[in-house]
Amino acid sequence: MGASVAYFLARRGIAVTVVERSGVACAASGKSGGFLALDWCDGTPLGPLARASFALHAELAKQLEVDYGYRRMDTFMLAARERGTLAGGHRVAAPRWLDGAGVVTSALGTNETTAQVTPARFTAALLDGARARGARLRIGIVEGVVQRDGAAVGVTVEGETLEGDAVVLAMGPWTSRAVGRLALPSVYGLKGYSVTLAGADVPAHALFVDYRTADGRALEPEIFPRPDGEVYVCGMADPAPLPDSPDAVEVSEVSCETLARAAGRVSTVLAGARVVRRQACYRPVTDDGLPLIGRVPGVGNAYVATGHGPWGILNAPATGLALAELISDGASASADLRSFDPARLPAAPVG
Ligand SMILES: Cc1cc2nc3c(=O)[nH]c(=O)nc-3n(C[C@H](O)[C@H](O)[C@H](O)COP(=O)(O)OP(=O)(O)OC[C@H]3O[C@@H](n4cnc5c(N)ncnc54)[C@H](O)[C@@H]3O)c2cc1C
Repeated sequence: MGASVAYFLARRGIAVTVVERSGVACAASGKSGGFLALDWCDGTPLGPLARASFALHAELAKQLEVDYGYRRMDTFMLAARERGTLAGGHRVAAPRWLDGAGVVTSALGTNETTAQVTPARFTAALLDGARARGARLRIGIVEGVVQRDGAAVGVTVEGETLEGDAVVLAMGPWTSRAVGRLALPSVYGLKGYSVTLAGADVPAHALFVDYRTADGRALEPEIFPRPDGEVYVCGMADPAPLPDSPDAVEVSEVSCETLARAAGRVSTVLAGARVVRRQACYRPVTDDGLPLIGRVPGVGNAYVATGHGPWGILNAPATGLALAELISDGASASADLRSFDPARLPAAPVG
């Protein structure tokens, strides 16, 4: 979110400093699936934002002039078991490479409605696009928002004040921790695991799997082959509490092995692939499942953009554009932000 807001502000000629504590895309925005869907948020307040973002992703892939793995995909739903096979065979026409114990139960999306990016490279491309227009990146820990006469005038970074005409809080699941007494709703972190596989040359087909482990657990692994030849597999929610820093996020080898095994059950090519990376990250979530995009209640010139849950990569472009408009023009012309107004939820207790 920070990279996207910075990019759209910089495109408007506004001088931006991005403060990042660890490294660009070190958390969910570097470790997520990067799956994009045009219409999967339809019927919810996120529907219009998601549709606008899906279109913006296609535009950005041309404008940024960097290959960050954007491509359209076909998307399928499967059922599979860690042990045994399901009766009945595929229920719709299934791609040939899905030759394992899984059953393809439906087609969920086509080249018109589903796509992907490689999130770490997408985030870096946005930030590089901002830097090419004068934005600066500062590695440091934001410790609080500096206020004067009821308005934000900067942030404290490791004891030093960094001044600005506006402050945007986009620290993902850590946002609540760094804001001190600001009246912001709670943002939590929901942990998930992922692995990347190498050595499997498979088509641009995204897979959502209804999976049962041998000991009876119901999981929903998601499998996204990427254009660089890697296959990304994620799933396995874990109630583990959010650590203070992204660098301290622990990876469970057992959970990662379960994910790799699930991929191997749907395709013999994936069963033979090598696990390259095992990782974990926390998606930022709010009490009502909708993001916080807009003004921080009670403080002038302070804004927030986070809490996008499972759709933060999809919705980053429209969020960044809308917030850049809100900051520079006083209102967003491209999106109706009322459903995402932080003032709709009670402020988190000061802890
Ligand atoms: C396993 C998994 C799979 C996912 N798959 C998808 C998907 O397929 N499609 C999709 O659209 N979304 C997906 N998501 C969701 C998406 O990744 C997130 O919603 C999104 O990345 C959140 O972005 P963010 O910028 O709010 O937070 P983050 O990516 O967490 O970024 C917050 C940044 O703030 C920094 N920071 C924290 N505290 C401080 C501080 N005090 N000072 C300075 N910097 C600080 C952190 O280091 C971090 O870089 C997935 C998430 C997970 C966990």
